[in-house]
Amino acid sequence: MKKLMRYIKGYEVQSILAPLFKLFEALMDLLVPIVVARIIDNGIAVGNSAYVWKYFGLLILLAALGLAFSITAQWFAANASVGFATALRKDLFSHIQSFSYSALDKAGTDTLITRLTSDVNLVQNGVNMSLRLLLRSPFIVVGAMIMSFTIDVRCALVFAVAIPLLSLVVAGIMYVTIPFFKKVQAALDEVLGITRENLTGARVIRAFCKEEDEIAAFDEKNAQLTRLNEFVGRISALMNPLTFLLVNVATIFLIKQGAVQVNLGVLKQGDVVAMYNYMAQMIVELIKFAALVVIINKGLAGANRVADVFDIVPGMEYSEDNELTSTGYKENSIPAVEFNNVSFAYSSSGEEAVSNLDFEVKRGQTVGIIGATGSGKSTLVNLIPRFYDATSGEVIVDGRNVKDYPKKELLDKFGIVPQKAVLFEGTIRDNLLWGNENATDKELWKAIETAQATEVVKNKKEGLDYYVEQNGRNLSGGQKQRLTIARALIKNPNILILDDSASALDFATDAKLREAVGKLDKDMTVFIVSQRTSSIRQADNILVMDDGRIVGQGTHDELMKSCSVYQEIYYSQFPEEKPDKMSDGSGNNSDGGNIPSGKAAGKVNRADIISGKKDSDLQSDKDSMGNNIEDNAAISGKEVTV
Ligand code: ADP
Ligand code: MG
Repeated sequence: MKKLMRYIKGYEVQSILAPLFKLFEALMDLLVPIVVARIIDNGIAVGNSAYVWKYFGLLILLAALGLAFSITAQWFAANASVGFATALRKDLFSHIQSFSYSALDKAGTDTLITRLTSDVNLVQNGVNMSLRLLLRSPFIVVGAMIMSFTIDVRCALVFAVAIPLLSLVVAGIMYVTIPFFKKVQAALDEVLGITRENLTGARVIRAFCKEEDEIAAFDEKNAQLTRLNEFVGRISALMNPLTFLLVNVATIFLIKQGAVQVNLGVLKQGDVVAMYNYMAQMIVELIKFAALVVIINKGLAGANRVADVFDIVPGMEYSEDNELTSTGYKENSIPAVEFNNVSFAYSSSGEEAVSNLDFEVKRGQTVGIIGATGSGKSTLVNLIPRFYDATSGEVIVDGRNVKDYPKKELLDKFGIVPQKAVLFEGTIRDNLLWGNENATDKELWKAIETAQATEVVKNKKEGLDYYVEQNGRNLSGGQKQRLTIARALIKNPNILILDDSASALDFATDAKLREAVGKLDKDMTVFIVSQRTSSIRQADNILVMDDGRIVGQGTHDELMKSCSVYQEIYYSQFPEEKPDKMSDGSGNNSDGGNIPSGKAAGKVNRADIISGKKDSDLQSDKDSMGNNIEDNAAISGKEVTV
């Protein structure tokens, strides 16, 4: 919380004026019982109606003043707390924007959303209510006690006993419930997490008839949240009966004691009524205070969770060194990309996702990367623009370690089409301009043409001004993919990375796309990740990935001679080309048929279907891969592996 207090900066005046005006309001409240006492004793008791009317006027005045003070205070408090939350949210958002991929992996999207919204709201509410009540409630309680002492010491002793008892009850209940507020927020995180996953994956869930399971899972998380809330609620519910009981007992004593004093002539009736009023004010304030403590604690729980996000270091430091501006790309002799014995493990899992990658890519070369789902293809290409830092080994781009580049200089070199096509809300033009904000329409159309997206855009009445909805949900998977390719091309990058970017395209379009990309700047180095041998067949160099390792490197023809994994993938897709002797020679293929074994199976693809592979065979491919529904992803709308 301390760390967050700096966001109150710029609202110091409001933060002082709000409680101050609340105190003025409280002062008005404290005067009311005295005025009422006067009306009773000096007006009603002696039948002086002029006096009654005069003091009645005074009561109205006090009420009006109290209202004015209260509104002013609330205005300042609202102003300060909303300003505070806005500044906090803004900073938190930009902090999250600076996260590296691994920091994002670590934090998790769902909890970041809760923290940015619900938790910040809790803090805002906490600040608002603290400004209003933190001083006012104790002020009234203490003030009421002092006022009653000025009226009659003997009666006021009832207050002296009642207040500590009441405070004890309130504090005890707080003590039990407060630790649970943090748990409630964490449970809320989980409910939100499962809700989000379900809503984004709704179509997949339906396709697999998993509704019942998902509902059960949701119910469990939801029930957990309810149980926690109920527990806290039950204990908090004790507050009102307990405090009211105490106050009523105190009132009995007060009236009994008051009656005696009135009989003795020490006290007047109005004084007893005033003391009773003070008692009533006090109980209201104590209950408000208890609610305030809850709100403050919720706010603190929220504040801690927000502070935790601030504590996450964005993770990646870029060099500020602009001096060394690379000469690399102009010089033919320096490889465009070089991996020296690179290994990488995601921080969430101890196991290496890729190991000992060693290769070199010359400027202008096209590199194909092929391998089964989960073999590390995406991980490999994500290491090139330094989305993740290699755990060991060096990634060199244009003769310089990627860790030595300033951020912009490094990223400017790349045009990246991620495996999961992501577009943002806005027109198609807005989305494409991300690649280069100064691009002209002519350049946009050229990139669109290369990306085989001309039809996509032309078919929309609005053309480039077609409005893409959030997450691009009004475009098909293939349309999105083509537009993301166009977006990368507009950058006219030195190095183009297509991570399985043709997976939702049909074979003919895929071929046209490759041809068009091939015709671009011949100095452009291109990485094509694919599970189809046809997509990478023409590449200058093909890296065959299997279980995080490069198990073969070379051209298609070379690999067909030397690499059994590549052969397996190839023949699984073009079984008609498989020479008979292969069934024994491939080594791995124990069943001798054309069902690819294990990791190298890639995915169920059209070649299998064209070749007449039986349904049950396809099924067995799927099972052997476990998570192999990527190919359906474009159809069902949810990407399974990213
Ligand atoms: P491919 O692109 O070949 O399908 P990936 O590079 O995406 O494979 O994945 C390689 C391995 O790394 C897989 O075992 C996968 O489970 C794991 N992996 C991928 N992304 C992450 C991540 N963000 N956090 C943890 N593990 C990951
Ligand atoms: Mg991938």
